[in-house]
Amino acid sequence: MEELGIDALIIGPSPDLVYLSGFGGRQSERLLLFILPRLGTPRLLLPSFEAPRIAALLPDVEMTLWDDGEDPLRDLRALVSRRTSARIGVGAQLFASTILALSDRLDEAQFVDASTVLAELRLRKSEAELELLRHTATAADATLSDLFAEELAGRAESTLAMLAAQHLLEHGVDDVGHTLVATGANTVVPHHHPSRDRVEVGATLFDIGGVYGGYRSDVTRTICVGPPDDELRRVHACVLNASEKAFSRVRPGVPAAEIDAAARQVIEEAGYGANFTHRTGHGIGLDVHEPPYLAAGDTTPLAPGMVFSIEPGIYLPGRFGVRIEDIVAVTQDGAERLNHVGRELAILR
Ligand code: ZN
Ligand code: ZN
Repeated sequence: MEELGIDALIIGPSPDLVYLSGFGGRQSERLLLFILPRLGTPRLLLPSFEAPRIAALLPDVEMTLWDDGEDPLRDLRALVSRRTSARIGVGAQLFASTILALSDRLDEAQFVDASTVLAELRLRKSEAELELLRHTATAADATLSDLFAEELAGRAESTLAMLAAQHLLEHGVDDVGHTLVATGANTVVPHHHPSRDRVEVGATLFDIGGVYGGYRSDVTRTICVGPPDDELRRVHACVLNASEKAFSRVRPGVPAAEIDAAARQVIEEAGYGANFTHRTGHGIGLDVHEPPYLAAGDTTPLAPGMVFSIEPGIYLPGRFGVRIEDIVAVTQDGAERLNHVGRELAILR
């Protein structure tokens, strides 16, 4: 904050707040703001009825309480900074209505995105963060193994998504992140929402993740119910090859964009370049998508402790799509895989 000339950060319930305080919460119309001055004591502005619960979680934070019916921002200026022309970093995930209210009350302040401070801190995971990420990745792997032991043919995507959620919780995550199940032509839609469509013979895609200690998992496998045709075999092998090539390039100092280029080159050479419609991966931590991004233009040099997905895909409109996704951590001299569930094309019932 000193380097960037920022006098205070104002953060709402968000992954940034979890990172700074260990407390998460959910953003709502009732204002809860964490105010972190460059100098002085962190403060939480919160509804008074929430105080007993939150005070126990954050014993070192001063509380400023407001009651329903009062103006929560009445003393804002005194809470944030004595300087009228203060430079304030606001949380990137605050509601626009909150940011507008802040800028109305602090009309001479300059507002900047708090990510200028926080993204840098969150980019490289500590050993404790890596342990949480490994735990949630292992739970997601075990969930896929459970699902693959089921008889899948004829089951609705939404039923399998519900089953995935149940298994994730049984394997020791705190919360379900996402459970995407897509079958047949639905596999072509990278962010398909599970429907009542029933699993068909051919490609079915599972993209799932849980939350543990705030940290996320995100793993994808595309399997085949019944015997695969030649093109599904060929496309799956190509995506797997792209994933391996990308993984083999991961080491400190390599720009994020080069990992994307490595995967893309394999898919382009196989003639499917136009069918790889998204970036190769995204950072993961307290947010499921966070920097760095494995995409053209992200020149972030990889460094030990960075954690991201490698998830190349090929999508053939009207037919099928294949994606393989694993979470990878950069180590001192290479990379560590956090997912270990088999990546070969599984042929299931
Ligand atoms: Zn995913
Ligand atoms: Zn992902």
